[in-house]
Amino acid sequence: MGSIIDGKAIAAALRQSIAADVAQLKVTGTVPGLAVVLVGEDPASRVYVSMKEKACAAAGIYSAEHKLPVETTEAQLLALIDELNRDRRIDGILVQLPLPKQINESKVLEAISPAKDVDGFHPYNVGRLVTGNPLFQPCTPYGVMKMLEATGVELAGKEVVVVGRSNIVGKPVALMCLAQHATVTLCHSRTHDLPAKVRQADVVIAAVGRPEMIRGEWIKPGAVVIDVGVNRVGDNKLVGDVEFEAAKERASAITPVPGGVGPMTITMLLYNTVESAKRRAHG
Ligand code: NDP
Repeated sequence: MGSIIDGKAIAAALRQSIAADVAQLKVTGTVPGLAVVLVGEDPASRVYVSMKEKACAAAGIYSAEHKLPVETTEAQLLALIDELNRDRRIDGILVQLPLPKQINESKVLEAISPAKDVDGFHPYNVGRLVTGNPLFQPCTPYGVMKMLEATGVELAGKEVVVVGRSNIVGKPVALMCLAQHATVTLCHSRTHDLPAKVRQADVVIAAVGRPEMIRGEWIKPGAVVIDVGVNRVGDNKLVGDVEFEAAKERASAITPVPGGVGPMTITMLLYNTVESAKRRAHG
């Protein structure tokens, strides 16, 4: 039976080291700053934004909250981003997605200075990831890589199968594994015979958004399983994209849902913000 990869514990250890870095920066007069922009009243977005603010406060990071009404125009939002790009106290700018329909999301993400793009979604940062010279890496896939590192998983030469090819998880995590010299197979909804692909994998990374669709019997004995999926089923229960109980019997290590990848995402946002502040402090 596989060991459980404890995302909460890995995230807590990382947050401690981030807080220590923040304390160190403050000694030299630099307070890391994150601007969080929320447009509208989406309840899930409000929860995420408040979690991000609390995490900033706990780490000693200054967070500036900008809550804008749902009818905000694209021009108004772009004007705020322009202001934040020039604000010396701000090392990272996060625009909570989704945005109301009158606002073009790509236009907004591209307006954020690549030097403050702590979500790593700007095409400049995507390009740097593709070319193997990353500046900011997107938080969820970066969190997955930190978990693999903390678990002592060596990726060089391994068969990694990523299921899901979104811009925020699947594609970037595939690129990050490639940079670590894994042989990467990127699967999606048009992939033929997904079970056969998963059966080859030394490391499976699931980012689909379909409850328990990766069956336990597909997992190669001894494989490492990272489940990014978060799905609400039945009585508000959270399950991942992997059939956890059955997969656990075959995997050498596996992330639970909840308590796996989830706690890593905000942690990496703090990490990116502090890295940005270090660049400001040290030039
Ligand atoms: P998207 O909906 O953007 O992408 C889902 C991907 O899964 C697509 O590439 C899609 O393929 C693929 N897919 C869908 N059905 C199948 C199938 N039957 N077989 C194989 N592949 C399939 O999702 P995200 O990447 O944004 O999120 C994925 C999951 O991760 C969600 O559950 C989300 O909630 C969770 N998540 C968790 C985070 C965390 O912090 N823990 C952060 C971000 C996401 P195609 O491209 O062909 O349509």
